[in-house]
Amino acid sequence: MLKPKKNEVRKPTKTLSGITPVAVMLPPRKCEHGDCLYCPSLNVPQSYTPKSPVVMRAKELNYDAYKQVKARINAFKAMHHPTEKIELIIMGGTFLEYPEKFQSEFIKGCYDAMNQKTSKNLKQAQKLNEKAEHRCVALCVETRPDVCSKHIDKMREFGVTRVELGVQIIDDKIYKKIQRGHTVKDVINATKNLKNAGFKIGYHIMPGLPGSNFKKDLRLFKKLFSDERFKPDQLKLYPCQVIPSSGLEEVYWKGGYKPYTKKETEHILIEMLKVVPRYCRVMRVMREIPPEYIVAGIINIDLRKDIEAEFRKKNSKLKEIRYREIGFALRRKEVNLDLDLKITKYKSSGGKEYFLEIVNKNDILFGLLRLRLFDNFAIIREIHVYGQALKLGEKGKTSQHRGLGKWLMEEAEKIVKKNKVKKLSVISGVGVREYYKKLGYKLDKTYMVKKF
Ligand code: SF4
Repeated sequence: MLKPKKNEVRKPTKTLSGITPVAVMLPPRKCEHGDCLYCPSLNVPQSYTPKSPVVMRAKELNYDAYKQVKARINAFKAMHHPTEKIELIIMGGTFLEYPEKFQSEFIKGCYDAMNQKTSKNLKQAQKLNEKAEHRCVALCVETRPDVCSKHIDKMREFGVTRVELGVQIIDDKIYKKIQRGHTVKDVINATKNLKNAGFKIGYHIMPGLPGSNFKKDLRLFKKLFSDERFKPDQLKLYPCQVIPSSGLEEVYWKGGYKPYTKKETEHILIEMLKVVPRYCRVMRVMREIPPEYIVAGIINIDLRKDIEAEFRKKNSKLKEIRYREIGFALRRKEVNLDLDLKITKYKSSGGKEYFLEIVNKNDILFGLLRLRLFDNFAIIREIHVYGQALKLGEKGKTSQHRGLGKWLMEEAEKIVKKNKVKKLSVISGVGVREYYKKLGYKLDKTYMVKKF
């Protein structure tokens, strides 16, 4: 890599959403239910291929959590990105199925690397991280819908704030066909339990699976947002591809499966993107699989760019979050700073969700907050101020550090009081506890809490 020039931020989109994402890969381990039909087994972390950059980096460091985090922070620093606010993402298989001791040591290794100091135990490492130079503001794990509800307390002890569930499609017949080993009921239960515990929830969705078709994919996708038992906060759209060593490869060679063509993939993605409501963020479209590992299926990983460019050209708007974020809008220089608060209320998994947004008149998004009310409880599941990540304490010209977070919190507290709920909890990354303390919140078990 050529050394970036002074003040040049290399690959600026990486931190455009306001935080610095650090992906850490788990060592290879088989999922306990067996292999899903489309999932490769290539002697690297489950579902990944040997030449994915994140796998290659991790393998070189022997999948050591401490070394991986340290190396990523150093790489971001070298590209002149801020590294004060880290979102840690644990990838590669079903983390919660690894031995308990491994899980906690792996997480501690991550905190130690951010603290640049080895602590005696996880609790001490987290305490240290509250004021560390590299603070963990969010922590994400990927898991299966049937392997998470019973691990909720443990995930909170680790400091997890976001969970990505492999959902793929909500159809039991297809689950059986692709050997997922769980049911739609597991998805519904996991979604409810995670939301009630304050987690932000992402679904991985896979159009074009065996047993599905365009009509079915779209109908079931629409159901994700019309049926209150689902309604995820985020999505990753990964169309099905045939990868060597997967069970699907065999089916494919025998003529039993055909993936979507490029045109069909574009079509389904466009129709899906049109459906996504304003409270949901499409994190990613297409998996980054090196072309030599694709037996069949499309290889274009930047389809999203083309699709969005087409939407913008036609002046037709998408409602999903990422499309409206200020960080991306700033790159197109179309920003108006006349800001307003918008509240969307919707039913979700037996509770009421209030989705608060700070937007300008062009619907560009500057900040958001997710408040959930259920059974006389109130919990903030997410607060996020968008824009290029800034150093803590640095004054922002646009959104971050202009008091937008405080504005959102005050509005959320008003709603809670109006609903006569006496206590508000916030799920908080360990590194954001200090911020909530300044707003009058106190640590209660693993949540920041304010009583009224
Ligand atoms: S659960 Fe995920 S990682 Fe495990 S076999 Fe299925 S697709 Fe692969």
